[in-house]
Amino acid sequence: MTDLTAPSRVQALMLKYGLKARKSLGQNFLIDQNIIQKIVDAAGLTPADTAVEIGPGLGVLTARLAEKAGRVIAVEIDQHLIPVLKETLAGTGNVQLVHGDALRTDFAALTGGAPFTVVANLPYYITTPLIFHLLESGCPVRRLVLMVQDEVADRLAAPPGGKQYGALAVMVQYYTRVEYLFKVPRTVFIPRPGVDSAVVRLEKRAQPAVPVPDEALFRRLVRGAFAQRRKTLANSLASALPLFSREEWQDRLRSLGLPENVRGEALSMEQFAALAAAAAVPPPTPAP
Ligand code: SAM
Repeated sequence: MTDLTAPSRVQALMLKYGLKARKSLGQNFLIDQNIIQKIVDAAGLTPADTAVEIGPGLGVLTARLAEKAGRVIAVEIDQHLIPVLKETLAGTGNVQLVHGDALRTDFAALTGGAPFTVVANLPYYITTPLIFHLLESGCPVRRLVLMVQDEVADRLAAPPGGKQYGALAVMVQYYTRVEYLFKVPRTVFIPRPGVDSAVVRLEKRAQPAVPVPDEALFRRLVRGAFAQRRKTLANSLASALPLFSREEWQDRLRSLGLPENVRGEALSMEQFAALAAAAAVPPPTPAP
């Protein structure tokens, strides 16, 4: 198989199939063997594993995954790339190409319920919804090795207290252990994106990081806590979750030993879980 990371090969394929990289679909093709090797190594695949790739593009990563995993399922939204992929992956016997939108894919059905590892150089516009789609659907994903915008990688791995810390960090860290692996310069793509990228690994936890009585309420609370970052947590929650008034949220914060004017970014995952438990208890009804 010819080297798909050679810029001349990428250009020749695009010309042959009359393609233009579509910005609206986040098409930035990787052209660096070393980075591809590092992504594949980070996935730790064996012949017993199923790998799912989101957005195979021209197949550069797919071909390498096929050498390591027993089975590769590649989901590509752009129908114009399907004939290209059929050509570039012709030498592999274990790749299943799926033409579809990853955001609408039922991954449990796709893999027949088998546990799987996601490996993807993600189109930036679907990063957050795709991560939530995979983690909240309850499908048997075990690990995600993802190339994302560098700034998003920082937000995924952020500890409490800083500007990067938000609903994305809390919810993703609730379901997974997040590792920022390495930075990827914008120069290793055709066409070159406007920002640098990074590769992260999300290892699904056997159990979520903290116990919560009502997961749907926990999610709403975490999202609501960061919906208006300039507001205090009690104010933010009173407008995002009108379940309780500002004063009632302040009571609950005080009962957890937190200042009533605390902001969402100061709370750890454990404190969000404790607040969700306190919120699951209805406020006392005033005496008649
Ligand atoms: N994996 C290739 C590589 O590393 O060179 C291409 C990566 S490119 C950043 C993103 C790919 O995702 C493109 O092929 C694009 O068409 C595809 N894509 C965009 N949105 C998608 C979606 N919703 N579902 C599946 N694939 C999508």
